[in-house]
Amino acid sequence: MADDGRMDSSAAPPPHSPDASGTTGSAGDGPSRTAPSYGPGRPPRTGRPSTTHPTAERSAERTAEHSGKYTTERTAASRAGAALTVPPAPAEVACRTHRLATGVWAHLQLAGDFWGFSNAGIVADGGEALLVDTYFTLAQTRRLRAAVESAAPGAQVRTVVNTHLNGDHCFGNQLFPGAECVTSAANLRAAAHELAPAPFRALQQQPPPGALGRYLLRHFGHFDFSGIEQVPPSRTFDGSLPLRVGAVHVELMEVGPAHTAGDVAVHVPEAGVVFCGDVFFHGTHPVVWAGPLRNWASACDRLLDTGARTFIPGHGPPADRADLAAVRDYLWYVHERAAERAAAGTPPEAAARELYTELTGPQSPYVDWELPERIGTAVAAVYRDLGTGAQGSADGPGPGTAETSGVPEAPGELLDVVTMMADLAEWGAGSGER
Ligand SMILES: [Zn+2]
Repeated sequence: MADDGRMDSSAAPPPHSPDASGTTGSAGDGPSRTAPSYGPGRPPRTGRPSTTHPTAERSAERTAEHSGKYTTERTAASRAGAALTVPPAPAEVACRTHRLATGVWAHLQLAGDFWGFSNAGIVADGGEALLVDTYFTLAQTRRLRAAVESAAPGAQVRTVVNTHLNGDHCFGNQLFPGAECVTSAANLRAAAHELAPAPFRALQQQPPPGALGRYLLRHFGHFDFSGIEQVPPSRTFDGSLPLRVGAVHVELMEVGPAHTAGDVAVHVPEAGVVFCGDVFFHGTHPVVWAGPLRNWASACDRLLDTGARTFIPGHGPPADRADLAAVRDYLWYVHERAAERAAAGTPPEAAARELYTELTGPQSPYVDWELPERIGTAVAAVYRDLGTGAQGSADGPGPGTAETSGVPEAPGELLDVVTMMADLAEWGAGSGER
């Protein structure tokens, strides 16, 4: 990183991220309803291509202590038959360890606009280490484990913090059997909403039809989910939890509900660093499984209030205060614009389409953010928050609050959200089937 603690955001490849928890219980089952109709008038996409892009080439990091590229795993779906074509995965993933301060590193996986490649944090002192998150597959997590060994030789990983329980942040827990695994109590209470490895494997073999299946295969078809034995957190907390790693003070902060029900951030005050988990997507539109967006925006303010200068997103390159503030402003903006449409009785699919057009337009400050179809998840969260219901009716669930997570209770509703996102992606890319 640069001397002032700012991290090379000029090289910032947009992230991507996975969190397929939103498909809870749905993978392989097929969509629960017909695809929404967006009607005529698909807007032109002016800002960005819809296909993969060469993130890896932008990944050279002059301050990297440990770096490498690896070829992604192309597995089950590609073996399942000609009918199941796995779209191109990132051919290479830029994987590097980024020193932030003495004894503090970010481990980054940068793979363009793909889900499933998250970041981790390492804090080491006095022969012990704390890890912020593990990864989606065992292969990814083994690379992370090797990076820990390289950065802090001989240090024992005594603590693994799961910022939330989406698989891309915890499926690798088993590779640290001697560690105490910590998350918020709210995360653990909501664990039933999370998608386990088996449904991911199932969707690779038998994806749902239509845009939903294509979307899921594109982002999850190339991962190898074999051998994963889920290790749930063994320690939970509410509010905050101070920890020590050797002589280094670390503060766990519960800031959800936001991305999920109980998001946790990890503040290292002496280093001026916050590992944000998926409260911060840097360079992509955020995926909103829970919300409300108002609470998420407030969570960004809480992280800024730490005074930290460096923020490691759950996905994407390291960031500074202005980058995180931009996410906060985006969340407020989307909340207000979606709320206007909810009040006017606009169906959520139409509201998502309108916001997509606006936010990807040439005048938008977010034109370069990847994965704009996730706007659909944000709109759905606002409609839940306001009690408008996922279908835009007045008889939807009650209003969400900052105290009650907006996680959809019914699997069908969550599947609707993911389906809307997948349809929005194809509609936006101009390849939708209508
Ligand atoms: Zn994630």
